[in-house]
Amino acid sequence: MTKPTEKVVCTSCYRSFEEVPTTSFLSGSRTYKCPHCQAKVAYPMTASHSCLPWFIVVIGGIGVIWGLAAGQFILPGFLLLLGLWMLLHDAGVRRKVKQAEERAKDVDSQPPHS
Ligand SMILES: [Zn+2]
Repeated sequence: MTKPTEKVVCTSCYRSFEEVPTTSFLSGSRTYKCPHCQAKVAYPMTASHSCLPWFIVVIGGIGVIWGLAAGQFILPGFLLLLGLWMLLHDAGVRRKVKQAEERAKDVDSQPPHS
């Protein structure tokens, strides 16, 4: 079974290309290798994964409140931090990709130098 290719914009050289993504099972983020500059391009997590960090944050949050009462909050605290880190990481990747896509539009709209 072959995965479908996806059209992405390189966050290093701002050129678009089509590649089969490598999806990280844990974080759900997709990575591509740019054929132009060989840079590793990270894309935000897939829609099916985007609820996972929220789930971890909620479970961790409940665990922290519950754990505070029981005097044990290291593990739920760690879960909460992990979920928050995943959300922040994904937001950072999203912003970088958005900037790259805007830069790519500028590159495409420029008249070619000949
Ligand atoms: Zn590139």
